[in-house]
Amino acid sequence: MAQMLSETILAQYRQYKAGRSDRRPVRSNTASQLAYPCPAGARYMVLKRQRWEAAEMPSPELQMIYDEGRLQEAAVLRDLAEAGLTVIEQQTAVEWRQYNITGHLDAKLLWNGTAVPIEIKSLSPYSWQAHQSVADMLDSKYPWMRGYPGQLLIYLMLTNAEVGMLITKNKANGQIRCIDLNLYEHLAYAESLVRLAEEVNQHIAADTVPPAVEYQDWVCGRCSMFNVCTPPMASTPPDVIEDSELLEALDERASLEAARKRYETLDKTLKERFKGNGGVRLCGEWVIETKLSTRKKMEYVPTGETIDVPLVSFKRYAHSDSGGE
Ligand code: SF4
Repeated sequence: MAQMLSETILAQYRQYKAGRSDRRPVRSNTASQLAYPCPAGARYMVLKRQRWEAAEMPSPELQMIYDEGRLQEAAVLRDLAEAGLTVIEQQTAVEWRQYNITGHLDAKLLWNGTAVPIEIKSLSPYSWQAHQSVADMLDSKYPWMRGYPGQLLIYLMLTNAEVGMLITKNKANGQIRCIDLNLYEHLAYAESLVRLAEEVNQHIAADTVPPAVEYQDWVCGRCSMFNVCTPPMASTPPDVIEDSELLEALDERASLEAARKRYETLDKTLKERFKGNGGVRLCGEWVIETKLSTRKKMEYVPTGETIDVPLVSFKRYAHSDSGGE
C-alpha cells in the first residue's frame, strides 16, 4: 500500500512538472541565452530563434530544477529585504532595441545611492563550492554556468550600471556568496556579446544559419538545439539504431532514475540506523533483522596486469542550456 502510494506520488509529481515545461517563440536575443558558449558562435542563438519549436523540451527533472531556482530566487530576495537591504525593481523586463536584446533583471540593491543590478543563482553544493569567482564561472565545465556572468554584463550595459552582483545560493545549506562583477573589467567580453547579437540579427533577417562546427561534448551534449544543429562528430560517426523497443527501454530506464535514487537514499539511511546492533524488531508489518557476522578482511594487491573493463553509459542529449542548476 505504502509502496503504491509512493509510486503514485512520484508519477503524478513528474507528470505535473512535465506539464509545466513549454516552448515559446523566441523573438529576441535573450540575455540568458546569448551568453551560451556555443562553439559555433551565433549558431545556437540563431537556431533558438528560427527553430524554437524544435528545441528539446526540458525533462520533468530539469523542470524541477528550474522551478526550484525560481523559488530560491524569491526566497533570497525576501531574505535580503528582511536583512535590511533595499531591494528595488524586482523582475524588471529590460530591452535594448537597437540589438534586439531582452531579459529579466532579478532585482537591484540600493547601496549608497547607487542601484546595483543583481542576478541570483541557486546551485548544488558542489557547484556552489566550485564556482567562487567570475573566473571560476567563465572557466566552468558547465555551459550554463559560463553564461551567468555574460547575462549580468548585458544587464549592466542595459541599465547603465558599472557594477553588478552575482549572488549564488547553496541549495543544501542556504549559504549565499556575493560575487562582484565590474563591467569595465570585462568590457571586451561584454562588447563581444553585443556583436554576437548583431550577427544573430543579420542571420535572422537573411534567413541564414551560421555554419556548424565540430561537436564538443561538454556543451553540445547539453544543448537544447542539438537535434536541429546536428554538429559533425570528430571521429567515427555513431551507429544510428532504429529500434523502438530499445528506445522505450531507454526512456523507461530514465523515468525510473528518480525512484532509484530515492530507494538508494532510503535504503542507506535505514540500514545505517540498524547496522550497529544485532536483533529483530517489528515496525508495523515490517520485520527488521540485523545479523552480525564475522568475515576475514580481504586485501587486494595490484598484479600489474591490465584487463579491458567495458563502461556503458546512456545519456540523453539534455536540454539544460538555460540553467541546469
Ligand atoms: S549543438 Fe553545439 S554547435 Fe550546435 S548549437 Fe548547440 S552548442 Fe552550438
